[in-house]
Amino acid sequence: MQNRTRRLKKTSFIFILILILMMLFQTACASSAGKKEPELTKSVLSMDTLAQISVYEKVDEKVVDEAFAYMLQLEENLSRYAPNGDIARINSAAGVAYVKVDEETLELIEKCIDYSEQTEGAFDISLGALIDLWGIATGENHIASQEEINEALRHTGYKNIFIDKENSAVMLAKQGVILDLGAVGKGYISEKVREFLVEKGVKSAIINFGGNVVLIGTNKGKQPFRIGIQDPFGQRGEYFAVVSGSKTALVSSGSYERYFLGPDGVRYHHIMNPAEGRPAQNGLCQVSIVCDDATLADILSTAVFVMGEEKGLAYLQTMDGVEAVFVSEEKQVTVTEGLKKDFKMIAK
Ligand code: ADP
Ligand code: MG
Repeated sequence: MQNRTRRLKKTSFIFILILILMMLFQTACASSAGKKEPELTKSVLSMDTLAQISVYEKVDEKVVDEAFAYMLQLEENLSRYAPNGDIARINSAAGVAYVKVDEETLELIEKCIDYSEQTEGAFDISLGALIDLWGIATGENHIASQEEINEALRHTGYKNIFIDKENSAVMLAKQGVILDLGAVGKGYISEKVREFLVEKGVKSAIINFGGNVVLIGTNKGKQPFRIGIQDPFGQRGEYFAVVSGSKTALVSSGSYERYFLGPDGVRYHHIMNPAEGRPAQNGLCQVSIVCDDATLADILSTAVFVMGEEKGLAYLQTMDGVEAVFVSEEKQVTVTEGLKKDFKMIAK
């Protein structure tokens, strides 16, 4: 595959100012829609991040409110921290009992296990013990010792997830194993919210769930929407490139999202290499996946980030309809062949 590489240019002050103004006016800038303004934009805070729905046609506000209510309900079910949700209930019965869950939760867990197998464990939803050890999600930053890592690794690994399909139930092999769906939750939820809005008859909208962007239709000008890709070296909401074309989901993962800097200058971030038990360090800074399924895009963005550019590209080539953009710590940008015509760097 021929990869085109370009250098990211420095951000100009004016660009930042324009972006701040756009955010203040709550246009659909989060996903950089075409020229037309949305008829309605609403946001809520969910899963520690901003979820925004912009609709580009006349719409009953109630439909959008219902979509948010549905979003929060899905979040509750998939969050480790909502005690009545499926995931929290599975975690608290680890090593003790099978827990009956929604069929949709079961399907999602099965899908995650399937991708763990395909990626030789690079993607793994059973890393709760490791994620807690490093404290990146909680803000209790901790540089783990090898002994601590070894201990946590005894409680990770997707093979510890047992499925009883007939009874729609899940059990974790032993106490201390913790499911954490952080790498797939937002993509999955944005996909479900898209389905919900389409069922309600919405034909033109953008859902942006913390940078997981999904599209419904085109904007009012009948032009395809354009989706901005977060600049991993810039402020939040600052883009370095836009993607247009017919694909309807874009998800980015990167080491710039949640991290702390160690005294050694190392950036300890939130994407774990499950084999090593520490944040993945392979020269990548960001991976964006563009395809038609946000659940898949979210899984792959995390998986490929762990696999690294070379292995990740080879893996993605085995799939149809999946494109990607890689940004290295050296600010090298690599775009897969099929995306080049729809990918544009923003001049800064
Ligand atoms: P974001 O949360 O920014 O959307 P990701 O989709 O890449 O980013 O998910 C990262 C989250 O997934 C982490 O915060 C953690 O909860 C969990 N996680 C970390 N490493 C892995 C991994 N190798 N496989 C699956 N989940 C992971
Ligand atoms: Mg992900």
